[in-house]
Amino acid sequence: MSRHLICLSFDFDALSGWIARGLTTPTPMSRGEFGAVGAKRILALLAKNNIRSTWFIPGVTIDTYPDICRSITDAGHEIGHHGWTHVPPANLTRSIEAEHLKRANEAIHKLSGHPAKGYRSPSWDLSAYTIRLLIENDFIYDSSMMGQDHHPYRARCDDIITEKGSVQFGKPTNLIEMPISWTLDDYPYFEFIRTDSVTLPGLSTARDVLKNWLDDFTYMCRTEDWGILTYTFHPFVIGRGHRMMILEELISSLTDQGAIFTTMADAAEEFIERAPLQTF
Ligand SMILES: [Zn+2]
Repeated sequence: MSRHLICLSFDFDALSGWIARGLTTPTPMSRGEFGAVGAKRILALLAKNNIRSTWFIPGVTIDTYPDICRSITDAGHEIGHHGWTHVPPANLTRSIEAEHLKRANEAIHKLSGHPAKGYRSPSWDLSAYTIRLLIENDFIYDSSMMGQDHHPYRARCDDIITEKGSVQFGKPTNLIEMPISWTLDDYPYFEFIRTDSVTLPGLSTARDVLKNWLDDFTYMCRTEDWGILTYTFHPFVIGRGHRMMILEELISSLTDQGAIFTTMADAAEEFIERAPLQTF
């Protein structure tokens, strides 16, 4: 019998992503602040549909919005690790990355009663050290890479990119990779960003994006008996009115098509049951 899992994941960056880019004047800060508005709308929608989801929250956001973060855990959602600040690990030294990993995990432990099982790097850019650090800190899964679409896989350590440009793959580990994609992320579709060096046009028509998101589920159902599709949303992005409308429609259409909504930790555990951990 086929079984198709959906993980709705919400990166509750709030102001942290803007701060990490040095955009700390009042208007960018207020864009992040809208995340608090969006988070409340999303929590109400999830409660109405009886869906448990996964929220990746930077430590600084837990400090800034303790009450909203408390209501997320009280509603039974999973809290995943999303850095202490929103600076991607690729831009940190190993020692700062390790320190931030522990510091944010302490905040998550305090909030939810246990450390995070899952990690998602800010801006999806891991360092050469991240996978080992996650294993050392007893994480079950990472969700920052794009090497598959419907199937988790085991993250590798120590890939070598040779001088000629070919790649020698490193050893797989027991850390489960829960793959993501920019195509299943609200941010690049919708956010208009203009800085001195870059312009992201964003502002896509929400209903066109909904079609992309639903078609990926249809394709998974056509091609796989079992699979997981992970959507990534940001409360300050998806929380705007016309985008909340497509989130509502996404949930109802996926439900009608037999999707099973679950947290990423539970989906990762289900994958481990199907493909037990190994000694590498
Ligand atoms: Zn983020």
